[in-house]
Amino acid sequence: FLPHLVASMEDVEETYIMIKPDGVQRGLVGEIITRFEKKGFKLTGLKLFQCPTELAQEHYKDLQSKPFFPKLINYITSGPVVCMAWEGVGVVASARKLIGATNPLNAEPGTIRGDLAVQTGSNYTVDSQDSMLIPFGRNVVHGSDSPENGKREIALWFKQGEVCQWTPAQEPWLTE
Ligand code: GDP
Ligand code: MG
Repeated sequence: FLPHLVASMEDVEETYIMIKPDGVQRGLVGEIITRFEKKGFKLTGLKLFQCPTELAQEHYKDLQSKPFFPKLINYITSGPVVCMAWEGVGVVASARKLIGATNPLNAEPGTIRGDLAVQTGSNYTVDSQDSMLIPFGRNVVHGSDSPENGKREIALWFKQGEVCQWTPAQEPWLTE
């Protein structure tokens, strides 16, 4: 018996996943949702939403000193986004793996960014801290980077009553 391998309710995490305006404009909404759905995570919140500037700034407040911050805020508010809350054991790290590296150029094939995003054109910025080349960060999707940020971001993007608690019929077929 290996107690550390047994998942408990405490391991159930929530993550905030957002299809960015380029993902919506390019008709990738169904494809991206499908990847999380097929994996077996539980969808608890979903809406199409035009993000106000203040909310984008709050969401990305940790990046506000970065040179690309104004462009990032323009990008996120440039059209509707799809806001999602997903739940599951280890969902935060697992979703980040499904999404792939921040720069689509470095994202592995099989990941959302690796399969669905490219380095577009010659207009890119160079972040002096990590030398990443990202053309305005058009990488189709966002995923929370920690369980704490998952909770924080879901609370930021969803109003009370918009997140649903439910038991998927497939649950006994996914976990013992
Ligand atoms: P993520 O967690 O993988 O989304 O990456 P970060 O939290 O580091 O950055 C948030 C978002 O800002 C990224 O997804 C990109 O859209 C954008 N971004 C990050 N780094 C850069 C950069 O160096 N240049 C530009 N233009 N955008 C960036
Ligand atoms: Mg991040």
